[in-house]
Amino acid sequence: MKLTHRDDWHVIVEIAPRATHIPLSALGFDLGDRDLDGELDGLPFEITVSPRRLGDLGGGITMGDRLISRDVDAAYRARCEAMLTAMLRQPHVKSGRVTCKETHTCSHCDLGWEVLSADDVLDEANCQDAYSVEGEPVCCEAGIDEFRTEHGIPTLADAAAVTR
Ligand SMILES: [Zn+2]
Repeated sequence: MKLTHRDDWHVIVEIAPRATHIPLSALGFDLGDRDLDGELDGLPFEITVSPRRLGDLGGGITMGDRLISRDVDAAYRARCEAMLTAMLRQPHVKSGRVTCKETHTCSHCDLGWEVLSADDVLDEANCQDAYSVEGEPVCCEAGIDEFRTEHGIPTLADAAAVTR
């Protein structure tokens, strides 16, 4: 079956410089003299923020994320959503969102999850046999048979036996 993995969590927020008075020093431009500080100006822009790693316990102590949480995906999502909520309370933050990278793999063979499209099944070359339908995975026999069993379609071995 299809397994979904999420990682690479980020918070993206849109900053509106003109809406408020953001000093240059807020961007790390500490020029050492108050008279040399200015206010940020320009069009709204986005910044991308990486959350602190779950396993980063501070004070130079780090461990694997999986030792910290049994559901790493959910923990990062919760952390990013909390960050976003807190950032949206700032007057210069116009909008924001939490993003992550999703990858789908097959639980049987670990390959990337791919299925036949409606167009794919029109070409026999893409099909295992006459029973192949849209949505059937393409990676491995176990994946295909699992899909077929769920959908009441003869398995590869059964289909082969019938045509023999
Ligand atoms: Zn597979």
